[in-house]
Amino acid sequence: MEQAEHSSRTPAQAGLDLAELYQCVHCGLCLNACPTYRALRIESESPRGRIHLVRAAAEGRIELNQGFAGHLNLCLMCRACETACPSGVKYGRIAEAARAAIGPPGSKLGRAIANLAFTRLLPFPARLRAAARLLRLYQRSGAERMMRWILPRRLSDMSAMLPAVPRRFFAPDAEILAPIGVRRARVGMLGGCVMSVLFSAVDEATLRVLRKNGCEVVLPKNQLCCGALNIHNGETVAAKEMARRNIDAFLAFDLDAIVVNAAGCGAAMKEYGYLLRDDPAYAEKAERFAALVKDAGEFLFSLGIVAPTAAVGLSVTYQDPCHLAHGQKVRSQPRALLQAIPGIKLLEMNTPDRCCGSAGIYNITHSAMSQELLQEKMRSIAATGATAVVAPNPGCMLQLRYGASRYGPPVEVFHLMDLLDRAYGGS
Ligand code: SF4
Ligand code: SF4
Repeated sequence: MEQAEHSSRTPAQAGLDLAELYQCVHCGLCLNACPTYRALRIESESPRGRIHLVRAAAEGRIELNQGFAGHLNLCLMCRACETACPSGVKYGRIAEAARAAIGPPGSKLGRAIANLAFTRLLPFPARLRAAARLLRLYQRSGAERMMRWILPRRLSDMSAMLPAVPRRFFAPDAEILAPIGVRRARVGMLGGCVMSVLFSAVDEATLRVLRKNGCEVVLPKNQLCCGALNIHNGETVAAKEMARRNIDAFLAFDLDAIVVNAAGCGAAMKEYGYLLRDDPAYAEKAERFAALVKDAGEFLFSLGIVAPTAAVGLSVTYQDPCHLAHGQKVRSQPRALLQAIPGIKLLEMNTPDRCCGSAGIYNITHSAMSQELLQEKMRSIAATGATAVVAPNPGCMLQLRYGASRYGPPVEVFHLMDLLDRAYGGS
């Protein structure tokens, strides 16, 4: 994969369609939806303020200096402003192009590490699995516990956020798995980079749930990480190559849908058409691919699920992952599926679609703001009295598990597919 390129490009040179910027009429209706504006009450930390800054940069009135980067990087990319905007401004596209112009956030060393991860690790499943095995060794040898005493607080917090790496990663023996019962659909499934190593049990649950709902499931062996982390952090060179490889891998099969169980990945894959719009060899294929992408809950709801019969006695609250609610506009379907599970009592929290502060690597790069949002989220969860939270996205699950252990309440955190799988009797 090619090395990422950034630096002194303007947002337009980084691929921003300027018409997106001029769609903003500066009404300010997005301000109170924005977590960073709500926390700081500063215009430059609001969607409108950031759009002003990007426009000024695009028109050559300001430089892409550290101040500019600071405002763009404090944004969580949660896209709550898109939901609030009556003019249909696609803030995510604007911010992604601005970030592509300035490069990944953090110190020089942090940026170099991030670039290395984006271009030399994420696109290579074998390397990613080798890195996960090393992490498992670090966790199980006792070195992690020791390092928590030695490392500065911020680094030891980061270490505490990592889940225990499972012994087995998601790696089904076959590329095509038959449905259980009558075939109702033929779907591709994204294993995902983080999901397949850190949340392999969720991938396995998703596969069982799909098959039990009559899906023949195709897991193309050439599939890769979707590139969402790259895109959100301004790295588009490797991201485009990963998109092309996924398009080739999945479109080699005749599929009714491409099912994704991670909200951030699904949102990025639904935008492959936009990402590759200037690539004559892939633009049409990318649109075709994007039209097939469905969140797992969205897909199962539209298919109509086989009624689950095993009772799951839990009172749960549902956290809308930002890239599912704001990015994909999927809100009611996961709730409907939860309510179809016998024994589940759904208790809504206040502002369930407000960001929990995870936001990809934001909880590492902007830990103070991330923790403030997490504490607010944990208070909302506590107010429901629920004993479990459902959040169908790996970043949210990690963040909420950390929140439960550090701030309470001591809720269990599940993926929607975990609970559906239980209700179908599991493995
Ligand atoms: S994406 Fe989220 S944090 Fe960023 S400007 Fe929009 S609402 Fe604010
Ligand atoms: S982004 Fe939308 S809601 Fe926000 S100021 Fe612009 S037009 Fe108004």
